[in-house]
Amino acid sequence: MTAYLCPILFALFVWWFSTGAIIYLDGLPTRTFKWSMMGATALFAAALYGLWLSADDTTVNGAYIAFASVLLAWGWHEISFYMGYVTGPRKHACRDGCKGWAHFGHALMASLWHELAIIVSFVVILALTQGGQARTGHRRLEHARDVRGGLPVPDQDQSHAESLGFCSPRGAVGTR
Ligand SMILES: [Zn+2]
Repeated sequence: MTAYLCPILFALFVWWFSTGAIIYLDGLPTRTFKWSMMGATALFAAALYGLWLSADDTTVNGAYIAFASVLLAWGWHEISFYMGYVTGPRKHACRDGCKGWAHFGHALMASLWHELAIIVSFVVILALTQGGQARTGHRRLEHARDVRGGLPVPDQDQSHAESLGFCSPRGAVGTR
């Protein structure tokens, strides 16, 4: 049960905590924004490295690293948008009573760079992680062929059982 509960609590806590951190940093004086932005950018770079690193990792730990990395990438987009670094070409407010499709266009123009940055990040993350499973699968298939004399058979993930111990007080959940 802990094996299922732990990832849920981890996801909820980390997401809740990072949202709180972003709201806190956004509430600080404007002069601090550049430091927040630089910190978020450094974490974003670390996140991309983490995603690249965990692309081959099919263990539970790999999933934790990947989730934390994506959350840091998400944090960069929130911070860069709310602090006004990556927004859109439209910087002024609408006239009173502005509505309909024109207003939708205004909203889109106010956040266009932010939306495009999300798409770019998505493509970059896809490029960094694509083929991770395939490479692992390919290696395993070759290994299985060597062992079984040409018949491709599913290989065991040896690190899976030990990785289930992560986040457990006794380090033995799932191995009983
Ligand atoms: Zn408008």
